[in-house]
Amino acid sequence: MSLPPLRLGETRIADGSLARITPLIDSLNPQSILLVTHPEAYENSGANHVLEPILADRKGCRFTDFKPNPTFEDARRGTERLGKEACDLIIALGGGSAIDMAKLIAIFSAQDASPRDLLSQGATFQPTTIPLVAVPTTAGTGSEATHFAVVYLEGKKHSIAHPSLLPDLAIVDPELTHRLPKALTATTGLDALCQGIESLWSVQSTETSRRLAREAVRLAWTHLEAAVHRPTPTIRLAMCRASHLAGRAINISKTTAPHALSYTLTARCGIPHGHAVALTLGPILEFNSRGTEETVHDPRGLVHVQKAIDEILETLDCPTAEEASRRFSEFMKTLGCPSTLKEMGIASSPLLEEVAEHVNAERLNNNPRRITCSQLKEILGRIA
Ligand code: NAD
Repeated sequence: MSLPPLRLGETRIADGSLARITPLIDSLNPQSILLVTHPEAYENSGANHVLEPILADRKGCRFTDFKPNPTFEDARRGTERLGKEACDLIIALGGGSAIDMAKLIAIFSAQDASPRDLLSQGATFQPTTIPLVAVPTTAGTGSEATHFAVVYLEGKKHSIAHPSLLPDLAIVDPELTHRLPKALTATTGLDALCQGIESLWSVQSTETSRRLAREAVRLAWTHLEAAVHRPTPTIRLAMCRASHLAGRAINISKTTAPHALSYTLTARCGIPHGHAVALTLGPILEFNSRGTEETVHDPRGLVHVQKAIDEILETLDCPTAEEASRRFSEFMKTLGCPSTLKEMGIASSPLLEEVAEHVNAERLNNNPRRITCSQLKEILGRIA
């Protein structure tokens, strides 16, 4: 059955959907297209075979020279490139890093003030004006469904949130993940799973975000192990759906403590984003399950939080948080992702002190149970 043409404002999750982009580009009739991608993602996903003939006939350029986990300096160079080539359409193709990079370029290019000053001062950004088409090639971040972008400025993680950062079109084509290597399938899939779990207990969760997150967790918990070791097109589709639904869920609820603790682990040791988040998920699940009326941080109260934790345990099919945490750690091992720093050959001291010192306060405040400094150290001690 042939797919209908793509339109701005929609999300398409279907095998072969990227190939439907031509009529859309024709109708937008851009002067010049900026493709933001990493060469390995572009080639290994097979997107090059689809996009090369389409882009060959049109004016445009590529921005490929940037590191995973976008830095401010790389985004600044990308913004310069966009201006120089007068691009009026951006296509982001890759993992969360390429999509976030495209979002950063789009928003930096719309500012009169210096983006560096805006970031350092935590000031409000002007909306983006250039249409952005996001095409994920990993099944993990759901960045194609969120209005945030992560950027590191002088080693410090910043998250820019703006409604205009939500991509104008999300093309989730599972075929682009068919050849995703094992390790990337594992670490990016863990991100989707953790985002779903964190979204369920988040202080900012809503009925809608919980519905999306529950389905994301169910899909990722059921299919991630097979996606790593025995992938089939059906399993890849399930993981793409998990990732996208988790992205939509956190677009409402934001993430919580495991994300708050992950950024320094990634920035200092290069632990892939999803793996860094997963390290503390089990210990924090146990910690959150032991909340009391005095320590609950969600204004909806302890009963609400306990219900959210029970829902997570039910979806993971585990009777207690301790059992879920144990099974989660085993699950990570079956994916080839160690659950402690020691197993990765990383010295935990003084790294964990640095993690505690630089913890992202905004994300920590979204956790359903208040965490003191000593409790944070205890949680981090579990991943040493
Ligand atoms: P990534 O984008 O950093 O990609 C990791 C590596 O995999 C890169 O070298 C990339 O080129 C390669 N790659 C991607 N697709 C491939 C493919 N199909 N075949 C072969 N190689 C491929 O990894 P990620 O986990 O997708 O993204 C992590 C980033 O996303 C982090 O910077 C994180 O902060 C950000 N993030 C953003 C949001 C959001 O809502 N904005 C949410 C979660 C994470």
